Amino acid sequence: MAFIKINKQNFFHNLNQIALKTGSKEKIAIVLKDNAYGHGLILMAELASSFGIKHAVVRKRDEAKQIDMLFQTVLVLGDTIKKDENISYAINTLEDISRAEKGAKVELKVDTGMHRNGIALTELEEALATIKEKGLLLVGVMTHYRSADVLSSELFWQQKQFEIVKKRVHASGFEKVRFHSYNSAAILRMKHFDEDLVRVGIGAYGYNELDASFDTVVLHPVLSLHAKKVSTRLLKKGECVGYGGDFTATKEMLVSTYDLGYGDGWCRGNTKGPYVTSENLPFIGRVSMDFSILASDKEEVCIMHNAQHAARHFETISYEVTTALSADIPKRVV
Ligand SMILES: *Cc1c(COP(=O)(O)O)cnc(C)c1O
Repeated sequence: MAFIKINKQNFFHNLNQIALKTGSKEKIAIVLKDNAYGHGLILMAELASSFGIKHAVVRKRDEAKQIDMLFQTVLVLGDTIKKDENISYAINTLEDISRAEKGAKVELKVDTGMHRNGIALTELEEALATIKEKGLLLVGVMTHYRSADVLSSELFWQQKQFEIVKKRVHASGFEKVRFHSYNSAAILRMKHFDEDLVRVGIGAYGYNELDASFDTVVLHPVLSLHAKKVSTRLLKKGECVGYGGDFTATKEMLVSTYDLGYGDGWCRGNTKGPYVTSENLPFIGRVSMDFSILASDKEEVCIMHNAQHAARHFETISYEVTTALSADIPKRVV
């Protein structure tokens, strides 16, 4: 089977770059949702913990339960709210509060402009009062930015809204809550950081998705994707390869089949503009479910060592390329 290499040094480099921005690694919450963006939930949780990261963010309780012993706190972004030792739950709607289990630790998400999740600014006091009434423990208040990666004043406008939220939360008598709003783009972009926590995902995995105009922090991709040779054959001139025979050899050529396909989460793409591996080997013919063909006879090939490059080719973003990779692909730390 294809395999993934996780570069520990690069991961630590990225976390160090972010820690320079936050002032301390204690303020980093590593976002491990969706199998740590395809990098492997437990593996990345262990590495993050060994680096000294104390906080994590996931989507589901089930993910949190697999890693909660490694962190001081784990925040669950979207699941039924339960009472747990060190797991807190995001509240996205007023209904979430009424459904929550008494005694649960919660972090109130406030919608400051993205209009995806979170309670409205006009519902803030009601939400805070209901949280108290229901016997929930408010440990955090958060928001999410819709355009932190874009060169415009949008981010500052949302930040201003969140500053107002902080004041209103304090005015309602909640003193011991952590405030957090920054994602990777926001922390990579901003010069000053004065919140309690940054929720960092893509940046930790090595991708700076900011406009080039403010690209200053250099990050290194953590994941590389490799495939192993299954078989080799000599194509005669005029012979075709793969489903549909989309590729025809214009001369005699040596090709090999490798054990990676779209069933592994690799993008099937399109034969008119084939993907070229990081070792400069073009894909030949259509990608199959479990196999791909390259003009090579190497035992092992590196398919991708930078998901941003692959993303550009497939007209998507690094997030989608790595997150799509099947959780079954074996991983090794190098
Ligand atoms: C996914 C997510 C993040 C992390 O975003 P990145 O751009 O990967 O840093 C932060 N906060 C919330 C609420 C998220 O859903």
